[in-house]
Amino acid sequence: MSTDLDERERRELRHKVNAATLDALRALGGEARRSDIHQRALADGGFTPRQLTAPPPASAGDKFARLIDHQLAWALTNLKRDGLVENPCRSVWRLAGAAREAPSPACEESVFVDRLDELRRMPYRDYLRTPEWRVTRAATLERAGHSCSLDVTHTDALEVHHRTYERRGRELASDLVVLCHACHLVHHKQFGRPGRRPDKRGDVATARPAASAQPASRSFFKRLFSPSRSHTLPD
Ligand SMILES: [Zn+2]
Ligand SMILES: [Zn+2]
Repeated sequence: MSTDLDERERRELRHKVNAATLDALRALGGEARRSDIHQRALADGGFTPRQLTAPPPASAGDKFARLIDHQLAWALTNLKRDGLVENPCRSVWRLAGAAREAPSPACEESVFVDRLDELRRMPYRDYLRTPEWRVTRAATLERAGHSCSLDVTHTDALEVHHRTYERRGRELASDLVVLCHACHLVHHKQFGRPGRRPDKRGDVATARPAASAQPASRSFFKRLFSPSRSHTLPD
């Protein structure tokens, strides 16, 4: 039995497939053939029966048996566009950019603790240049579907905002929010910012102002952010 996924479910699946593809490539040593990556992602991606059996879009029905096959086929292309994988020769794919620079999960716990300590002590703007932050940032954008958390139609000049710095270096997904530049500015106007000014270099990735986006309304902000918790200084 297969049933169609709704828009939100399809989007969720797309992000899960992208994440599973990166994880698969990591598990395979950072470079692998497309078919091996797909197989691994399918096996280890934690997909639900509903996700595994959803039918493909009508336009792709002659090429793919299931929606997940269609999305897997696109995942590497999407990740390549985001600079996280590259395709050095036909059918071979490997981790690139921020994804490649992430520390190996197999590294010694003591090394991890030292590095975490370092990440927490370094100046914030240096932290924003670390491979660790770049991977976290890319994953956050990916999870948010490359759109502003306050309005999905805001897709330009996206920035990743820290709701708290408590877990700097090992942030939880809930510590971070994707905002477009315009909404981010309004947020900081409303709720202030920490003593230093992260947005000067800071959690801002692309400083282009969104040309057409209107910042989301005040009530949206209230719902998403609690002023007392946002921008807690790390020290
Ligand atoms: Zn911010
Ligand atoms: Zn926005």
